[in-house]
Amino acid sequence: MTGHAHSIMTIGECMVELAPREDGTFNRNFAGDSFNSAWYLRRLLPAGASVDYCSAVGTDRISDRMLSFIADAGIGTQHVARVGDRTVGLYMIELEKGERSFIYWRDRSAAKLLAEDPARLRAAVAGKTLLLFSGITLAILSAEHRANLLTVLREARAAGALVVFDPNMRLRLWPDVATMCAAVSEAASVADVVLPSFDEDGPNFGDATPEATIARYRAAGVRTVVVKNGAGEVVAEDEQEGQVRYQPVPVTDVVDTTAAGDSFNAGFLTARLAGQPLEAAIASGASISAKVIRARGALVQI
Ligand code: ADP
Repeated sequence: MTGHAHSIMTIGECMVELAPREDGTFNRNFAGDSFNSAWYLRRLLPAGASVDYCSAVGTDRISDRMLSFIADAGIGTQHVARVGDRTVGLYMIELEKGERSFIYWRDRSAAKLLAEDPARLRAAVAGKTLLLFSGITLAILSAEHRANLLTVLREARAAGALVVFDPNMRLRLWPDVATMCAAVSEAASVADVVLPSFDEDGPNFGDATPEATIARYRAAGVRTVVVKNGAGEVVAEDEQEGQVRYQPVPVTDVVDTTAAGDSFNAGFLTARLAGQPLEAAIASGASISAKVIRARGALVQI
């Protein structure tokens, strides 16, 4: 994974975020798991590496603003398609006695069509050295478009790209647990690296321990599995390095855990691309997310 300029692409949906201010008005931001990871990767990787986003937006003003925001962050937008009769998804953060909840308007978002055209997807991933997608990317697509995406990723992997998958299991985006688990398992079978969270994979797949999560993905052919577990120990396994356990330094002054996993992924992958061993890369991911959860919002200046 070292020795040449890296060309990274993350694939998924970026949304408009409305975050409440204390005076009752809202801040308008842009965020979404795959985009958050791209944003952190761009900040962490050397300038010689490229980071691109693959998605779809509308042709209206707010879509233009989102694209400008992505481009201003140094992330390539050439492979964000424009869909004429749709616009970007939206979510609002509700604060009730310090507890956050999210309301989404994304059922007809343009991003749901990001994998409509296999030829466009193929052109987007051509020449990329690392491709990152998530269970949320899968959840917003029709079964047919999911198959398009997995086919193109399988081809890219065969051509030498490192394919990275974060299961990010959000049941409310799926008809039922079985459909979600089947899609996640199929996606894992095209990935070299899977970065699950035990609080999602454990209950949904019935894994009793992080080691069981690792064993399940390794049996599907995944080379590297890193199981995140909130403040708990990260347990990981790599086909060459074996199993590693890492206890993140506890963060006692947590402000907002949004994008903890997305920023961990970026820190971990940046270290791996620099040739670091598993444990050092996990420490790097954990230290980035420790900074992110001490501040408000998905995108934190690190
Ligand atoms: P996700 O956002 O995908 O649910 P996790 O909650 O598992 O991800 O957190 C991802 C990473 O963020 C963890 O592996 C850990 O390194 C860090 N992290 C999250 N919560 C804490 C915490 N309370 N203290 C220290 N580190 C944390």
